[in-house]
Amino acid sequence: MSTIETRLYINNTYTAAKAGDTFPIFNPFDGSHVADVCSAGEDDVEAAVIAAERAQQKWAALAGTERAAIMRRFAELLRQHARMIAELDAQVMGRPAQGNTEGAGSAAIFDYYAGLGEHVHGTSSLLTPGFINVSIKQPFGVTVGIIPWNFPLGSFAFKAAPAVAAGNAIIIKTSEKAPLSLAYISEYIEKAGFPPGIIQILHGAGKTGQLLSEHMRVRKISFTGSTQTGRAILIASAKSNMKNVTLELGGKSPTIIFDDADIDKAASSCAFSIGFNSGQVCIASSRLYVHEQIHDRFVQALGQAMIQFRHGDPLDAGTTMGPQADKAQSTTVAKYMGVGKEDGVVAHGGQSTKENFFEPTIFTDIPHSSRLNREEVFGPVVVVHRFVDEDEAIKLCNESEYGLYAAVFTRNVDRALRVAKRLESGSVGVNCNSPMTANDLPFGGWKMSGMGRENGPNGLAPWLEDKSMYIKV
Ligand code: NAD
Repeated sequence: MSTIETRLYINNTYTAAKAGDTFPIFNPFDGSHVADVCSAGEDDVEAAVIAAERAQQKWAALAGTERAAIMRRFAELLRQHARMIAELDAQVMGRPAQGNTEGAGSAAIFDYYAGLGEHVHGTSSLLTPGFINVSIKQPFGVTVGIIPWNFPLGSFAFKAAPAVAAGNAIIIKTSEKAPLSLAYISEYIEKAGFPPGIIQILHGAGKTGQLLSEHMRVRKISFTGSTQTGRAILIASAKSNMKNVTLELGGKSPTIIFDDADIDKAASSCAFSIGFNSGQVCIASSRLYVHEQIHDRFVQALGQAMIQFRHGDPLDAGTTMGPQADKAQSTTVAKYMGVGKEDGVVAHGGQSTKENFFEPTIFTDIPHSSRLNREEVFGPVVVVHRFVDEDEAIKLCNESEYGLYAAVFTRNVDRALRVAKRLESGSVGVNCNSPMTANDLPFGGWKMSGMGRENGPNGLAPWLEDKSMYIKV
């Protein structure tokens, strides 16, 4: 069993759940019992909201530079503890610790918003005779972030960093599948200098999230997770106090590979995209549209590129693909493998090699209407289709309820830009998949992949309300 602290982090203090509830965490690699984690109920949620209310206005009254200094100290602590963060996530959700850069990545997000929070500007207008009109930006007050398990630290940073830079207090609800890295870093919130109540960490399952989504004194909620839960949160918000809601949801991301593309580079990039984190990535390229002239060569190259993944213990340095995060994930992946075998042809992989492990798998000859092609698998499973011309490829890509990420591979720059513009997607990679290299560009989804944006300057705006003031002179 892990010895790390697993209590709730309320008012800068590790606190047991008032009702005494806990839930167990098991290692998906070997089934061992890793920890029992406190589960927040109604009284704990209320305690966190009260602490946030007490703290937030003083926090908002600080100079931006003072908030930024605390955020930068916190970023430094995340960097220092990056290895432990990676090891904890390896044990609870199977992501290989080697190469897991979430600690450093999350630190960069805190640094970025520390800088941005120092320069929050409104607007002014002299257009109305007899008036000087100004608009100022103000924080919401008590806010909530509900996060998934596949990138615990990153999802936390995408919400907490802009929220506190804008002067809000935030309560983070971790995922019941992967709470440990956030439980571990909770103590650095106080060490960095955040006053009690500004960043609080609650653990628990959907019920805890629901209590927060329905809470009448929470003004803003930012959610990352499945489209199904996003819908429930939107409804809970509508039925309670009409919270401002940001949603980062699921995807079924398409990639087009034209006949002039570098086949090996495209195959290697697509293999990494669907194999990274065992395919449990919202922007994984899971639908590939390949020009008919190169279809067979591409499928072969993709299979070759998939051989690079090495299954094993996520704590071992040589492991590049861990298990699915838990039994429920494995059941889902197995179900969709079954759909693929009924509806089409296995061109590569297709087997579970050990409990919770799946070979990276390519399906071909899948009807476009198949569930495998329409629904998010969240596993290392890709479908490859043929296309004849550009219009057909774009039409097929856009025939999806999702619109989170898309990519296009071609050496023709005009075509790349033309196609990128027509794809219905929040982000498009040109000759690359899923890079997410930039902290300064908006990230989010079209259609059922989300509402609103995170990352970059657009990621700060959703944590601020506008207030216009009409000054008679
Ligand atoms: P999930 O929707 O099952 O759970 C996400 C969070 O919501 C968890 O903390 C969970 O406890 C909580 N929750 C569950 N029911 C709730 C309810 N009724 N009210 C409030 N909270 C509730 O998603 P998951 O399995 O943790 O994550 C995988 C999903 O997240 C995938 O669909 C993936 O595409 C998506 N995702 C999206 C992005 C993005 O940026 N768009 C990033 C990562 C993951």
